[in-house]
Amino acid sequence: MPELPEVETIARDLAPLLRGLRIAKVWHAAQPPVFDRHSLPPEMLAGRTVIAVERAGKFVVIELSAGLRLAVHLRMTGRLIFRPVHAPLPPDAERYARATLSFRGGAELLFADVRKFGRLRVFRGGAQDALALGVDPFDRRLDATALAALTRKRTTPVKMWLLDQRRLAGVGNIYACEALYYARLRPKRRVGRLTALERHRLLLALRKVLRKAIYHRGSSVDDYVDAAGESGRFQNHLAVYGRAGMPCRRCGTPINRMVLGQRGTFYCPACQR
Ligand SMILES: [Zn+2]
Repeated sequence: MPELPEVETIARDLAPLLRGLRIAKVWHAAQPPVFDRHSLPPEMLAGRTVIAVERAGKFVVIELSAGLRLAVHLRMTGRLIFRPVHAPLPPDAERYARATLSFRGGAELLFADVRKFGRLRVFRGGAQDALALGVDPFDRRLDATALAALTRKRTTPVKMWLLDQRRLAGVGNIYACEALYYARLRPKRRVGRLTALERHRLLLALRKVLRKAIYHRGSSVDDYVDAAGESGRFQNHLAVYGRAGMPCRRCGTPINRMVLGQRGTFYCPACQR
């Protein structure tokens, strides 16, 4: 599933293509509904102009005129595909189309989704509130002290805390495993019991790994491709995720895999304490 670096890549790529375009018409598949039950009517999108394309947590958020926003959660196989005027669509895009925004002048933005788990939502107001998102890992207000306040007395394993979108928005299974490796922390450690130094290491590691992954345009571990249909490159740089039994890049000890909260969790039993 696309996480922060993949969604950031898509939003950055789409922003210059969509900015200033005016939506003429909206089409969406009926079953299963592609707009979620909290969404304002999709028809409200017609006539709005795209002001910006941003990321909030794991959502692509298209900011529109008149205070409206459109959030897109790609889930497993969702893809946003921009089709310039007179350009052909990539193969299969039409077959798996779940929603289409047609812009004045003829360009289109398609939401295609093979497995149909992806969801769209039209809403007003700020994305963080509307989508019930926790703090962003790159939020300047998030420092070791703020992290201490957020995790105080929590007995949740640190890995599961990192995945909870209502606490910290944007991190999924891949980058939680990677960040804990660079912070040298066992995924099972209780988040409320980390020391001040460990919290500091965790924040630094998290930002470092997310920044590197954005630079490499995300990880294509499963189905992820960007808005142009290209794979990311960060899967070639993963330190622990998907590397069970392979030697730790730091100490050579075989990487362990365990299941934590029903998710495969990878760590080095020697480096991570
Ligand atoms: Zn190691």
